[in-house]
Amino acid sequence: MVGKVKVYFYDFRDKEMPRVERAIEKLLRRVVEEEPLRGIVGIKVHMGEEGNITHLRPEFVRSVVDVVKRLGCEPIVFDTTSLYSGPRSNAVSYLNLAAKKGFTYASLGAPVVIGDGIRGMSGFTVKIQGFELSEVEVADIVRDLDSMIVLSHFKGHVTAGFGGALKNLAMGCTTKRGKASQHRAHMPIVLIEKCVGCGSCSRVCSYGAIRVEEKVAKVNYDNCVGCLECYFTCPNRALDVPRQGIEKLQVRLADAALAVIKALKSRPLYLNVVINVTARCDCLGCVMKPIVNDVGLLSSLDPVAMDQASLDLVVETAGGRDPFLEVNGVSGERILEAAEKLGLGSRTYELVKIG
Ligand code: SF4
Ligand code: SF4
Repeated sequence: MVGKVKVYFYDFRDKEMPRVERAIEKLLRRVVEEEPLRGIVGIKVHMGEEGNITHLRPEFVRSVVDVVKRLGCEPIVFDTTSLYSGPRSNAVSYLNLAAKKGFTYASLGAPVVIGDGIRGMSGFTVKIQGFELSEVEVADIVRDLDSMIVLSHFKGHVTAGFGGALKNLAMGCTTKRGKASQHRAHMPIVLIEKCVGCGSCSRVCSYGAIRVEEKVAKVNYDNCVGCLECYFTCPNRALDVPRQGIEKLQVRLADAALAVIKALKSRPLYLNVVINVTARCDCLGCVMKPIVNDVGLLSSLDPVAMDQASLDLVVETAGGRDPFLEVNGVSGERILEAAEKLGLGSRTYELVKIG
């Protein structure tokens, strides 16, 4: 009989803050025993929006780089451009921001690159039989790697419910076109009674998709990519995202994760960092307070089990309530459910404590 999928857990809750590098080495070595790393190993990270201070810390990335080198492989650290405007929207300004935040060759011991080209348009199409999507444009770097470690900061997300391994694959390893194909699931609607025609939304939209006409905002759905920058900017909460769209987005995230895994030469390894757990994601350029105590670090070869275990531990640490659902009113159930049905992994797992 095949046993349950294993998720290895280094618990930070019941001890003094441990040495992170030791924890990461132990966690990675457990999964490497089952899926050896080889050749050029991409370490997929998110280096955080300008102004965000709770994203993945460079020290964690450095520890992963060091383990990869000790295993005789060549690490390369990467992310992709953002769909919305701002310093992460092209490779040049993203790398400048990354350096400011301490993600440099000197601090990490490995090159840092943006994997979908200078403007986020370098990718290739992967055909899939997803629930919502039949093809996804995946970032060029993905097909060049021999192995990949998906290193994710686990936190809440306003429409995905939470961001972890699955979202890091789906949104994190695709081009702007690949991201848009997911984001278009939830395009905003204008609540006419609340809109005062201030134009803040149209000023932030990089796609010319929202304009004020006759003192009310109007969305051009042919141009809109669903990035929701307008939604977050509106000072009057005059934009809304329909619930149906949120569920579709979560299903599309699972579809896109499938495309990325299909494009890889080998099975990826996952490492979730469940500390500094904020209600919203690292794409927000503001200071956020953690909403639960630090939980710890997890590793697995299964992205579904990995995110399910991370979520379960956050809920357990919060005293049995889902803090993401409480703050954002959105659960991440649909992504887990869709990913499991697509065969990406299992929601049933065995938590193996190490330390
Ligand atoms: S920012 Fe909000 S209130 Fe201002 S025009 Fe846009 S939708 Fe209307
Ligand atoms: S209208 Fe809003 S959601 Fe659509 S592309 Fe513009 S900023 Fe993004």
